[in-house]
Amino acid sequence: MRASMPGRAGYRDIDLYAPERSPCRIDLSDNTNAWGMPPAARAAMDVVAGSPRYPSLYAEELKRALGVYTGMPPAWITTGCGSDDVLDSAIRALTEPGDRLAYVAPTFPMIPIFARLNGLVPVPCALKDLARSGARLLYICSPNNPTGELVDRGAIKRVLKSASADQVIIVDEAYFEFCGTTVIDLLRSCDRLLVTRTMSKAFGLAGLRVGYALGNPALIAEVEKSRGPYKVSAVAEAAGVAALTDGLDWVRKHIARTIVNRERLLEELCRRRLPPLPSAANFVFVPLAGSIAIARAMRDRGVAVRAFDEPAGLRITVGEWSDLADVLTALDEARSVCS
Ligand code: PMP
Repeated sequence: MRASMPGRAGYRDIDLYAPERSPCRIDLSDNTNAWGMPPAARAAMDVVAGSPRYPSLYAEELKRALGVYTGMPPAWITTGCGSDDVLDSAIRALTEPGDRLAYVAPTFPMIPIFARLNGLVPVPCALKDLARSGARLLYICSPNNPTGELVDRGAIKRVLKSASADQVIIVDEAYFEFCGTTVIDLLRSCDRLLVTRTMSKAFGLAGLRVGYALGNPALIAEVEKSRGPYKVSAVAEAAGVAALTDGLDWVRKHIARTIVNRERLLEELCRRRLPPLPSAANFVFVPLAGSIAIARAMRDRGVAVRAFDEPAGLRITVGEWSDLADVLTALDEARSVCS
């Protein structure tokens, strides 16, 4: 059946991205904000929700608010329907089909998928070899999903320095707010660096889909063209602006809470002789053999975390401590039934 389907060869064989997402009593599987969104963002949604008109073409008001938040002029910013959309638009804008996209594995699972959807060849690679991989696009995620690792700034600078004139470097800072470490200060000295970010994590707007990228205006203009008009809905733009202005204190308070709970979760896991990887994000990765079966047994107990098999481990989103206590109980029980 597949062979007779219309469409591009190499595209048909890509599977639909569909991780287990069925509802669960406690869901700490997707690194979103366990406390919801800032009340100011929720209130702003109601004001525009009834409008029958299209949103603004390129979310200029959101860019202005992001400009104040990041300290960059609006011409250095593009937005999109989640940073998924921004990453996909960037790949489409800045590469030719057949080019290679190099990334340090394991990383955000959508990257090799976006590469293939755009006709690129995904190439896993060591960080030190990224620039000489010959790939057109080099992707670095810091803090990295799913490991939580903060990539050394010096190593990123070395990649930027050794990259050739036709290579573009994307640094994905989806989890920036949980560590405060960024490379956006390098944008003015590197016109081939694009930094992507999201409002899905610290800002609690995953359901509204708001992402953005920062880069040299010439690079940003190319990504914006590929992103196209009307990509951020009017409701999402209003909520995004409110979260970045009146909602900022709420956001900062919940980042602080996340970090306190993350450190407590790390300690609890160490106490169980399950040393997790150090985390600079709002999740913790626990290397664990048999992770798929253990996650399934945890789900049977009403707790969803994300299992990975390469490397084997569980990724647990940091939320309210009462929920994390239930995660630990379910983990203890699941390990004893799976052993
Ligand atoms: N980058 C990374 C590293 C992520 O983990 C995610 C979401 N899990 C995204 C980008 C995409 O986020 P969104 O589309 O919600 O902005």
